[in-house]
Amino acid sequence: MVENIEVEVDGKRYQCRIEYKRMRNLRFRFSKDGTFLVSCPYRTPRDYIEKGIAKYLPKLEKRNEYELPAIGDEVYVFGEKRIIDGFSGFNEGEKSKTLKAILLPYLEERVAYYSSLMGVKKKYQVKVRDMSTRYGVNNRSKGKLTFATLLVYYSKDTIDSVVVHELAHDFVFSHDESFYSYVFRYCPDYKLRHAKLRKHQYHE
Ligand SMILES: [Zn+2]
Repeated sequence: MVENIEVEVDGKRYQCRIEYKRMRNLRFRFSKDGTFLVSCPYRTPRDYIEKGIAKYLPKLEKRNEYELPAIGDEVYVFGEKRIIDGFSGFNEGEKSKTLKAILLPYLEERVAYYSSLMGVKKKYQVKVRDMSTRYGVNNRSKGKLTFATLLVYYSKDTIDSVVVHELAHDFVFSHDESFYSYVFRYCPDYKLRHAKLRKHQYHE
């Protein structure tokens, strides 16, 4: 059983997901997208859960090594904080739809730009999908490039590095030296860009 609630801690509002499970003790952690997750035994009283959130959320936020991409309605978009009205009240599906609608037109433009720059003959179809383990996928046989929704949080230069990476797969399938020679030719600061992705550094 899962419940989504919003909790105010120190004047900031946080999205929390409570999962009731067969377990003995409460567990608290942040998910990658910044939702605060609580696992607790069935029939744990709500006020007990909220007390736990008030106690552990600030501690875990301080310890959280990554900056959160969204706090309340303030969301990183293209590496800059922007207010998206009502965002904190959206459910996961609405959030994803909103972010995809921002990211897709940008990606379509950049894929067209880099395709012509890199001499990619294929006209790729561009898609955005919720993925947490990969930033992009090149399905060459289907002529389809898929990018992760979470890229929307990053600066345009960082997003472009992923576009270059996926388009370089049009020439070279594996991640070998010849592959990276394409990548570095069109994205000289690729290493810096990749480090930003790894460290969840959205801003420049
Ligand atoms: Zn790759």
